[in-house]
Amino acid sequence: MHCPFCGADDTKVIDSRLVAEGGQVRRRRECLSCRERFTTFEVAELLMPRVIKRDGTREPFDENKLRSGLLRSLEKRPVGIEQIEAAISQIKHVLQTTGEREVPSRLIGERIMERLRDLDQVAYVRFASVYRSFQDISEFRAELDRLESRPANPGAKTD
Ligand SMILES: [Zn+2]
Repeated sequence: MHCPFCGADDTKVIDSRLVAEGGQVRRRRECLSCRERFTTFEVAELLMPRVIKRDGTREPFDENKLRSGLLRSLEKRPVGIEQIEAAISQIKHVLQTTGEREVPSRLIGERIMERLRDLDQVAYVRFASVYRSFQDISEFRAELDRLESRPANPGAKTD
C-alpha cells in the first residue's frame, strides 16, 4: 500500500479493527519513510460478472438498468420500493454466486422473471411480453396459461 503523502511503498499496520458490524476492517497505517499515519478501510468485494448480450458483445453489469426494467414492469402495481430493492439484491446475489466472470443477458432476464413471478403477476406478464417479444396473442395466452398452471406454493418443484 503506497503512502498517500510521499508515495513510499513501505507502510506498516499499527492497528486493525472490525467496523460496520464486521463488514469492514479499519486499519491504521504508518509510513516507514515519512512517518505520516493514515487509515484504510477494507471490504470484501464480490464482483458482478460482465454481461454477454444477444449479439455477442459484452458490457458491464448495470444495476440501474436492472432497476429501471423492474420499475417499468411494476409501474402502478402494489409493490413497495423495499420489495423491489430486495429483488435487486437477490438477483445480484445470484449473479455473483455463479462465480462466472461473464453471464449471458438471457440468464439475467430469467432471474428477473422469477422474482417478478413471485412479486406481482401483472408485472411478470408485462416484463415477459417485452423480454420474450411475444409475436402475437397466442404466445401471450400461452404465457398466461403457464402462469395459471403454476402451483400455489412458489417453492414447490413440478419437474
Ligand atoms: Zn510517506
